[in-house]
Amino acid sequence: VADALGLALVPDSPVLCGLAATSPAPGLRERLSGRRAHCVATLTRAGRVVMREAGEVLFREYGLSGIVSFNLSRHARPGDAIELDLAPEVDAWEVDKLVADRPGDAHALDGILDPTTAEALVGLAGGAQAGGLAWRVAPLVKGLPFRVEGLADTAHAQVTRGGIDVAALDARTLAARGHDGLFACGEALDVDGACGGYNLAWAWASGMSCGASAARHAATAHANATAPSKDARAARAGAPTPRKDAPSSPERTLS
Ligand SMILES: Cc1cc2nc3c(=O)[nH]c(=O)nc-3n(C[C@H](O)[C@H](O)[C@H](O)COP(=O)(O)OP(=O)(O)OC[C@H]3O[C@@H](n4cnc5c(N)ncnc54)[C@H](O)[C@@H]3O)c2cc1C
Repeated sequence: VADALGLALVPDSPVLCGLAATSPAPGLRERLSGRRAHCVATLTRAGRVVMREAGEVLFREYGLSGIVSFNLSRHARPGDAIELDLAPEVDAWEVDKLVADRPGDAHALDGILDPTTAEALVGLAGGAQAGGLAWRVAPLVKGLPFRVEGLADTAHAQVTRGGIDVAALDARTLAARGHDGLFACGEALDVDGACGGYNLAWAWASGMSCGASAARHAATAHANATAPSKDARAARAGAPTPRKDAPSSPERTLS
């Protein structure tokens, strides 16, 4: 409808969805698929930090999902790097020490990582041999690397970015400029937010504002349509009804 009316549109794209991401470790995605981990994820582009996000990641065969991935999907581009700190409450030296104290034992990370994830990382570090294990496992725990290929599982994306350009609307009333009586709200507009209820909050708040504006507009239009004409008001007040063909005089115009 907006397109047909010539309102400015921003192209649609899915956001709040999974990220297709490769891992340098062959088989890691398959081994971790379905596991969840609490982490701090850092998204970087050409060495610069784009965003950092704490929360839960869900490993999938295609890459990453979960709330952390959803929020990264609003900013990530193909080629970006993601590092997952899987033990944000533990310093790197502590992870080093834990692994060094029990060389070759993936259970050294019990209480920090779930056993399947720990085993996968130890496997990625080249097996459970003693010696050198600590310095290879700890960097993975504190910065498991991925490379973004693009968005994934977009059929289940929670939000659509794009839609009616916000510049096409009056921000106070959400009335479309140049289209009397047309109002828009929610995801129809090019507005999207991070996970955390912001999209529903926007849908409700903009819906209330838009509905109230539309009601006011309808009430005004109704009042104008049903308001008695000047002649009817004059007749009710007992004044003589002017003849249509009577020449207008300054006095009549003023009265
Ligand atoms: C799986 C999932 C989980 C989500 N979780 C969260 C969350 O936890 N927190 C959060 O903030 N947001 C969440 N969102 C996003 C949030 O639900 C949406 O941003 C919000 O519902 C958008 O509201 P809306 O009214 O603009 O659009 P919609 O909710 O999409 O409503 C549009 C309505 O218009 C109807 N419609 C479409 N075309 C026509 C037509 N031609 N004639 C008549 N009716 C029509 C549709 O059937 C629909 O009922 C989630 C979304 C999904 C898909």
